[in-house]
Amino acid sequence: MQTLEEALDKILDAVRPLPVYWEALDEACGRFAAAKVLSPLNLPPADNSSVDGYAVRAADLAAASAASPVALSLAGYSPAGGTFLGAVESGVCVRVFTGSELPRGADAIVMQEDVKPEPGSARNLLFVDTIRQWENVRFVGDDVKQNDILIETGEKFTACRLGLLAAAGISRASCRRPPEVVLVATGSELQEAGQPLQPGAIYESNRLMLSVMAQQAGAIATTLPPISDDLEVTKSALKQAFAHSDVVVTTGGVSVGEMDWVRTAFTEIGGQLEVSNVAMKPGKPFAFGHREGKLFFGLPGNPVSALVTFFLLARPALLRLQGARDVLPPRHLATLAGALENPGGRRHFMRVTLDPDGRARSAGKQASHILSATARSHGLVDVPPNTTLPAGAVVRVLRWD
Ligand code: AMP
Ligand code: MG
Repeated sequence: MQTLEEALDKILDAVRPLPVYWEALDEACGRFAAAKVLSPLNLPPADNSSVDGYAVRAADLAAASAASPVALSLAGYSPAGGTFLGAVESGVCVRVFTGSELPRGADAIVMQEDVKPEPGSARNLLFVDTIRQWENVRFVGDDVKQNDILIETGEKFTACRLGLLAAAGISRASCRRPPEVVLVATGSELQEAGQPLQPGAIYESNRLMLSVMAQQAGAIATTLPPISDDLEVTKSALKQAFAHSDVVVTTGGVSVGEMDWVRTAFTEIGGQLEVSNVAMKPGKPFAFGHREGKLFFGLPGNPVSALVTFFLLARPALLRLQGARDVLPPRHLATLAGALENPGGRRHFMRVTLDPDGRARSAGKQASHILSATARSHGLVDVPPNTTLPAGAVVRVLRWD
């Protein structure tokens, strides 16, 4: 039996990140940067206006006031997407719009709301206030300097990061191939949905839950039909799963009962076990190994145990295969609204709900077959053995998302 941390170290040590390929930026969401990306240019690329208004020389308006406005003559336009070819000399102004390049010679932009046409003049505008130099001007490189890092190796392409890369004119990025995961559910009692439940059977639910979690972690998940508790059947299902995947995940049959064939089947087809059982609840029965460079996770059958072991031990491996830098679950500090009690001798990852004010409370019954409370929960709190975490304690919630 190993600690969770020992098991995770072994698992991550066994991971070899998948090959790199170039991906179009609009397909890269959720992938991870295989190399850092530097900005090829400054952002903004030139000094420009942050408002609709008039580009001026601030010194021209040093004496302007409502009582004695200063008149400047309109020398032209600097439209968005164009450039004003002349220069703003003393005594003139140029019409600009938000994002227009700052015309040469100008050093401030007066908002159009603060400018009036001069009565009786076709070209002159009246300025009724002074302006500070560089007011309403956005400077070249304000946001990003040429060669600044836009995304670091291992960071995820999120909506916001993709926006930044697009703004720098980047259209493709290097990523790692998504891992192919095959899910196998073992258990002679398992029945697929669609038919009335047979005596002694239960509907199979682990494959869907885990395949969604795998996909949310960037993997491509496929499932095989549930298999019965039989050594030969398990061996042939595992062989089939290994033939078409980078990672094989089984649920059930990994405990110590005489119908639990998964470990035996895995080693008999040439797999090498690296981790057997982890000192945590839910999820003590657990196996990790590899076969011909592919990873194997034998998860317990109880749905909550399967979910928690997948989340804490398999998901990090899926992320590392894609070259992700951060492979641990997202964490969120919260204050306990009620005590969390773990009278047992193993650390207990208890399901909790989080409210918008950052308070966490038990999601309900904590046994490893209780899916209803798990369905309500937002994440897990790691409660040490023989420990009660009291109401008011600040805890770290490992969020599902
Ligand atoms: P096992 O780990 O095979 O001993 O299974 C533990 C418990 O989980 C048993 O009550 C099984 O019926 C249940 N179980 C196993 N696999 C699944 C599954 N894929 N979907 C739902 N329940 C399962
Ligand atoms: Mg079973």
